[in-house]
Amino acid sequence: MMKAKKSLGQNFLIDNNVIKEISGAINASVNDLIIEIGPGRGALTKELKEKHANLICYEIDTDLKPYLNSLEDDSTIIKYQDILNSNIEEDIKDITYNNLYIVGNLPYYITTPIIKYLINLNIDIKEMVFMVQEEVADRFSSMPGSKDYSAITLYLNYYYQVEKLFRVSKKCFNPIPKVESAIIKLKKRENRPNVNTAKYFALLSDAFKMKRKTLKNNLANYDYSKIQAVLDKHGLSSNVRAEQISEEIFVEIVNNL
Ligand code: SAM
Repeated sequence: MMKAKKSLGQNFLIDNNVIKEISGAINASVNDLIIEIGPGRGALTKELKEKHANLICYEIDTDLKPYLNSLEDDSTIIKYQDILNSNIEEDIKDITYNNLYIVGNLPYYITTPIIKYLINLNIDIKEMVFMVQEEVADRFSSMPGSKDYSAITLYLNYYYQVEKLFRVSKKCFNPIPKVESAIIKLKKRENRPNVNTAKYFALLSDAFKMKRKTLKNNLANYDYSKIQAVLDKHGLSSNVRAEQISEEIFVEIVNNL
């Protein structure tokens, strides 16, 4: 058996219940399209095939061909490419489908780049289900007031409603990874906040720049009186920190600047 490549984040799922649960979290059926990122030895791919949707998988490592070749057929394509250098828009343009789902037990070293890459594509993704490091799952799905709540939480939740579904023990993988894992689901949001996204994401990045500083200190370059007016309205003191501020209030702040 080929040795797993640590540098490519290769920790293969070996627990059938977990594989079934991940696949079960994807609501796709016959007339849908599923994209799988990093099929590896095909553990999840085999389960996804049972949905009889169109399936396109992106795997960077051609050494995995012996495991994946037998899974290819009229409705299952494996592309040996770096997902971050792929051309998904082009690859799917001739496929007719109802809804697009993206799934993967992600290579953890590029979790955030992959999700940001997918968000910025010009395609309509209904839901994404990913295995990520548990800490990352907590950060992406956290609520205001939690230590995990950060700029990336608000960025992702602008596009998708992010939910942590369940934890996955290290023991469900081979080789056993150093960190615990969890499954997250990202559901496309139909009612995104009404903001200028460039301004909004810049504000979030500045607001959370130094975790221990107050909002006021992090936003020293802004016209703070306008921000304070919004904080006052919501009964928030001038030494509030970014991690205590809800999306609704951030949106109100940016629209008031
Ligand atoms: N899906 C398999 C499973 O659950 O057993 C494998 C998951 S493993 C955590 C991550 C997979 O992503 C590996 O097969 C690895 O080769 C692949 N991979 C790593 N970097 C990649 C990239 N940039 N583009 C596409 N696949 C990548």
